Amino acid sequence: MDDAQAHGRVDGRADGPTDGLTDGPADGRAHDWTDRRREEGSSRHRGLLRLPPLPRWVAEAVAVPAAAQVAVTPVLVLMAGQVTPVAVIANLLVAPAVAPATLLGFGAALVAPVWPDGARLLVIPAGYAVGWIITVARWAVNLPFATVPWPAGLPGLALLVLAVLVAIPILRRRAWRAVAVTVVAAALAAVLVIRPIAGPWPPKGWLMVMCDVGQGDGLIVAAGPGRAVVVDTGPDPAIMDKCLRRVGVDDVPLLVLTHAHADHVGGISGVLRNRRVGAVVVSPHRDGSEGGGRISTMLAGRRIPEWTASPGTRWRFGPSELTVVAPALDSGGSYGYGEGSEINNASVVLHVRWRSGSALLGGDLETEAQDDLLHRFPIRADILKTPHHGSNRQSPEFLGSLGARAALISVGAGNDYGHPAPSTLGLLRRLGLTVHRTDQSGDLAVVEGEDGMAVIPRGRDFSLRTVGDGHGGATDTGRTLAITHMRRPSAHKHNVGTQDRPRCHRT
Ligand SMILES: [Zn+2]
Repeated sequence: MDDAQAHGRVDGRADGPTDGLTDGPADGRAHDWTDRRREEGSSRHRGLLRLPPLPRWVAEAVAVPAAAQVAVTPVLVLMAGQVTPVAVIANLLVAPAVAPATLLGFGAALVAPVWPDGARLLVIPAGYAVGWIITVARWAVNLPFATVPWPAGLPGLALLVLAVLVAIPILRRRAWRAVAVTVVAAALAAVLVIRPIAGPWPPKGWLMVMCDVGQGDGLIVAAGPGRAVVVDTGPDPAIMDKCLRRVGVDDVPLLVLTHAHADHVGGISGVLRNRRVGAVVVSPHRDGSEGGGRISTMLAGRRIPEWTASPGTRWRFGPSELTVVAPALDSGGSYGYGEGSEINNASVVLHVRWRSGSALLGGDLETEAQDDLLHRFPIRADILKTPHHGSNRQSPEFLGSLGARAALISVGAGNDYGHPAPSTLGLLRRLGLTVHRTDQSGDLAVVEGEDGMAVIPRGRDFSLRTVGDGHGGATDTGRTLAITHMRRPSAHKHNVGTQDRPRCHRT
């Protein structure tokens, strides 16, 4: 140590200013000072960024979890196909709590059989230590880049070796290191600024998510942790699979296909991908439709039962109660002009009830079937899945009878059909509904809040298009501005009780 100090002094004198040395205390700091000043001088000379050296205790504290992470990363890549840079910070933060949690917990286990009260005293501080570890883990997992997807298996391992071989020369040269630090810092700053505005997905308390599947329908209805009822699959398997993964759905007890048009069933294999599907519900009026036949063959091959929807059938999954309200078995499914309209009008229509409100999922119903439904029995709903992507074939009486406050429209940007029709948007506004569109806002979530339900758009990535129908003028990046709050419905409208039958239910 003395030798090192002596060298420091000699070097300091030889290279330039020595004020720090002669005025400073004769201890290790003197060495650091002169050494740093010398290096700063040479950095200035080269015009390069020089980071201040880390204090020794910080370097040591970081080195241990970093070394542990380096050791386990190849195993994690082989097993899980991901890299977790955030683990270093998380391990650093939980390190002080690990020993107390382990030792106190172990002590409590030893003491408990002979002295339960003493064990209780030991468990309380152990609980705080464990609580800290859980808190850090929860916080860390939500950080940007908490986990970086990485190819799994041997290719992933090879890529990891390659990345290390590239990183080592970069980190060894000061100039390259400065560039690398600047790039990483800029990327982190960009993500940290964008992420908090974008918020987590799905939002807390979500009840239903309308996926942005382009031109088509794909809905996810909450059915408990990791589970959801899926209503239609959109046209593209990859898009539907991605939307379900974003929401964290790996179990689908029920898949409802409203009707066998490609924009509603084309993505079915995306729902089946790595997921258990309990049963598929289809419309009773789909005899001879080409898409329907293909789906039946596919489901039979996978031994997934296919059920025919009949009005009044009701299921309860987690927070959601679903009731089939259409098509009526006696309607014959033969109204509307042209084959397309006939199939649309035979859509399975679901009424979904939650503790805080309800929704009507109207498939692609057109005017005739909407009027038919209106005359069969009254339906009330807080949220309307606007039938047929907001086409102009809507019954004003039917839409008005629902008493809904928000309309969700699943529609592709720039579609050839002219959906949603300006006349329908005008009608919905006149009826007092706030309109939310997937082509403008991306995925839409219906959430249960403190005082009722709200609609939260996910936002289209890095787009600055206007959200909603111009009421709020909010942009995609201002998600919270686009929320439509809906007060809890009055008791007479949706009385929630086990004895209660929904008003849409046929008696
Ligand atoms: Zn459609």
